Amino acid sequence: LVYPVDPKHQHQYRNNEQQQTPSIRVMTWNILAQALGEGKDGFVQCPLDALNWAERKYLILEEILTYRPDILCLQEVDHYYDTFQPILASLGYHSTFLPKPWSPCLEVASNNGPDGCALFYRRARFSLLHTSHLRLSAMMLPTNQVAIVQTLRCRETGQRLCVAVTHLKARSGWERLRGAQGADLLQSLKAITSRAAGSDPVSRGPGGGSGTEGVPLIVCGDFNAEPSEDVYRRFISSPLGLDSAYKLLSADGQTEPAYTTWKIRPSGESCSTLDYIWYSHGAFTVDTLLDIPTEEQIGPDRLPSYHYPSDHLSLLCDVSFREPRDQPH
Ligand code: NDP
Ligand code: CA
Repeated sequence: LVYPVDPKHQHQYRNNEQQQTPSIRVMTWNILAQALGEGKDGFVQCPLDALNWAERKYLILEEILTYRPDILCLQEVDHYYDTFQPILASLGYHSTFLPKPWSPCLEVASNNGPDGCALFYRRARFSLLHTSHLRLSAMMLPTNQVAIVQTLRCRETGQRLCVAVTHLKARSGWERLRGAQGADLLQSLKAITSRAAGSDPVSRGPGGGSGTEGVPLIVCGDFNAEPSEDVYRRFISSPLGLDSAYKLLSADGQTEPAYTTWKIRPSGESCSTLDYIWYSHGAFTVDTLLDIPTEEQIGPDRLPSYHYPSDHLSLLCDVSFREPRDQPH
C-alpha cells in the first residue's frame, strides 16, 4: 500500500521518471520522548491532553505511514519495544534501537525506559550488511549521546549505502561538546564507509562512490545545533563530501529552513533549526523535499499541539543515486 504525498507539500527538483531505479525516501524525526514531554520539557502552551501517549502515538504513526519512508531515523524514542518496533515490523520494516547510556527519561516517574535513536528500513528494498552502535566521544571521553550506522544493499541494484542516525547533546553552552561529538561521528563514518567500500568494487570510483573512496552516506538527526555552530561547519566541510538536503528548499539553495523546532517553555519561545539530513552530494541527487509547515499552520501556541505530536518537525526527502553521466565535476 502506497500513500500519495500531497503535492501541495512537496517540492520537486528533478523528474526521475526516466531513471531506471526508484528513489530512496528518507525521513528523520525527533518524536519527543513521552517521559520528557510529560515530565521535563515544560511546554507551557501545550495542553496536557495533547501529550497523552494513547492518542499522540497515532499522530506519530500517521505521519510516518502517510509517507512510508524507505529509511526512517527517529530520535527520542522511549516506546520502541512496545510500539514502534512491533507496529513497523508488521508493515515490513527492519529496525534497531540504541538507548542513551543515561537517559533523562529514567528520572521521570512512570517512565517507559530510556530514550534513544532508532533506525528502520524497508526490508523489501534493502538487505543489511553491517550495523554499528556508537557511543559518541568528546575529547577522548565517552558522552551520553549515541549513533547507529548501518550499511545497506539495495535489493534491486546491488548498490550499497551507509545510513546513520544521531541525537547530539542539547542546550546552549555545550557547543564545543557538540563539535567534538560531530568530529567523533565523522571519524567513525569515514572508517565505516571506507571499510564498506573495500569489500565492494561496485561502490568504488565513479558511479558508486561519494566523490571520495567510501560508500555513499546519509546522516540524519537532531544535531541540537544551528547552522552557525561549529558542528555544522564540520559536517559541511568534511572530506566525506556531505551536503544538507533541506538547503534546497530555499530560494538560493544555500540556506537552511528558518526552523525545524518551535516551542514555548517558561524561559520563553525557542524557534530554531536543529535537524538535518546530510547526504553524499557526489553520489546522490535530492529529488523531492517535504515542506516545512508555515507559522500559520503551526499556530500561536507552537509545538507540540493537538495537530503536531512533537516539538520537532519531521524532515523527509527522496534521494537517487546519480547516474554515472550525472557525476558532478
Ligand atoms: P541533553 O542535555 O542532551 O538533553 C536531554 C533532553 O532534554 C533532550 O532530549 C532535549 O531535547 C531536552 N531538552 C533540551 N533543552 C531542554 C530544556 N531547556 N528543558 C527541558 N528539556 C530540554 O541531556 P544529556 O544526555 O546530557 O543528559 C542530561 C540529563 O541526563 C541530566 O540532566 C540528567 O537528567 C540525566 N543524567 C543522569 C545521570 C545519572 O548519573 N543518573 C548521568 C548523566 C545524565 P532536544 O534534543 O529536543 O532539545
Ligand atoms: Ca526534546
